[in-house]
Amino acid sequence: MAVRVIEVAEFDLVVFGASGDLAHRKLIPALYHRCADGQVPEGARIICSARRDYSSDDYRQWAREALQEHVSDLEDESLEHFLARLHYVKIDVGGTEGWSELRTLLDERPDVVRAFYLAVGPDLFGTICQGIGNAGLVNEQTRVVIEKPIGKDGASAKSLNDTVGAVFKEEQIFRIDHYLGKETVQNLMALRFANALFEPLWNAAHIDHVQITVAESLGVGGRAGYYDTAGALRDMVQNHILQLLCLVAMEPPESMNADSVRDEKLKVLKALSPITEANADKLTVRGQYRAGASAGGAVPGYLEELGHDGSTTETFVALKAEIANWRWAGVPFYLRTGKRLAQRVSEIAVQFRPIPHSIFDAEAGHISANRLVIRLQPDEGVQMKVMIKDPGPGGMRLREVPLDMSFAEAFKIRNPDAYERLIMDVIRGNQTLFMRRDEVDAAWAWIDPILDAWKSSKDTPRSYTAGTWGPSASIALVERDGRTWAEDGL
Ligand code: NAP
Repeated sequence: MAVRVIEVAEFDLVVFGASGDLAHRKLIPALYHRCADGQVPEGARIICSARRDYSSDDYRQWAREALQEHVSDLEDESLEHFLARLHYVKIDVGGTEGWSELRTLLDERPDVVRAFYLAVGPDLFGTICQGIGNAGLVNEQTRVVIEKPIGKDGASAKSLNDTVGAVFKEEQIFRIDHYLGKETVQNLMALRFANALFEPLWNAAHIDHVQITVAESLGVGGRAGYYDTAGALRDMVQNHILQLLCLVAMEPPESMNADSVRDEKLKVLKALSPITEANADKLTVRGQYRAGASAGGAVPGYLEELGHDGSTTETFVALKAEIANWRWAGVPFYLRTGKRLAQRVSEIAVQFRPIPHSIFDAEAGHISANRLVIRLQPDEGVQMKVMIKDPGPGGMRLREVPLDMSFAEAFKIRNPDAYERLIMDVIRGNQTLFMRRDEVDAAWAWIDPILDAWKSSKDTPRSYTAGTWGPSASIALVERDGRTWAEDGL
């Protein structure tokens, strides 16, 4: 099936931090794909910036190597065409050099969309925004993209948002959460709101509980220094997992308009029942991995990777969240994420209630309740688990089968990376899949009391062996309620 590609408007995209890991693995490959697919107009320029002393040709060579490493279907003609759009301007953002060169370049085309992508650590966001403001680079066509982490608590997020907000208006700020750009996550919205089938069942009367798992098999590796200041709750739950929860739980928005969608997500965040010192020990489990085995080989523990003892940073967290509103009262949302777990998998499992009465006799076998599984990685897809009759003349025996809705397979297209969609949305000025400031604040307002409760608790994270599903207390968190973690996958 042919992919529909709608060309975006002319643009100049300035990437700060263009020599970093994110640019290497994600941004440059994403931009290449959009160019190769014909979505980027002829005149569009990608202006890359970092401190290193590169010419534009040096940077093109760097980008060529990045693409050779990360793009499997690289085509010579598309590659040369893409590289020709790249320019490089050396700027140490804390200094004054380079800004006027950038300004001269941008002034050549004051009327095209102008986007700044801050692919740098958050400590540089303020400096770069001030640099952009001081150099007079902001006009009505300007947008800025900021990466996570947006703060390490509500107060620091406010200060960061104030700094960016001093230069850019809220409608110019694109806070990226790449989970929202994943095809399957958008398909969750299509499933819920483009089908009459699910919405009548999408509530406490028919849904028993929801599980959201974001499991990584890798450890912290080279990111140990950063990770130790964050931990799993800040790194994954405050942003990605709460965003997924919002998309599952929100009311139907009036339209796909950015504020309609974000208004509904915000209501969900505000309706989350607080987890505080009074109930954190019942509703949360923290873990930290010790040495174990992963992919058949021995792997070190977190403290060994970190290089010192004594850290109580959690590399695993499981939570039982509840949304206090009519639709979801009494439906637990079990959330868990961690490093060095048994498998790399991200999925949302919506567990429906069992049938109220069985007409089948015991020989028909167990009747499992329906489950909708939305898999974000590694293989994006959606499955609905349903009961059918076992084929053949063997009498009425029932079995559970997955009704497969794996879209990439069905449409035989390359599954685009989330960054491809999101960068094009920035150029289009569409903020639907980006977090609004009040969403970030509301997410921190729920997370901060959990962090406070942990800080004042005498308990430390429970140790778990690398390569397992985390501490046994996480299993108990769900089993106490008579449920189990879904580990069937797609
Ligand atoms: P990184 O590999 O450390 O790259 C940082 C970039 O910033 C480099 O290009 C560096 O270039 C540049 N830089 C540092 N100091 C600078 C200065 N004073 N002036 C100008 N440029 C400077 O970081 P990253 O992993 O790409 O991450 C970038 C951002 O994306 C971070 O906020 C991170 O949290 C976020 N993020 C990353 C990933 C990922 O997969 N990597 C995923 C999600 C979010 P030079 O050293 O050449 O100047």
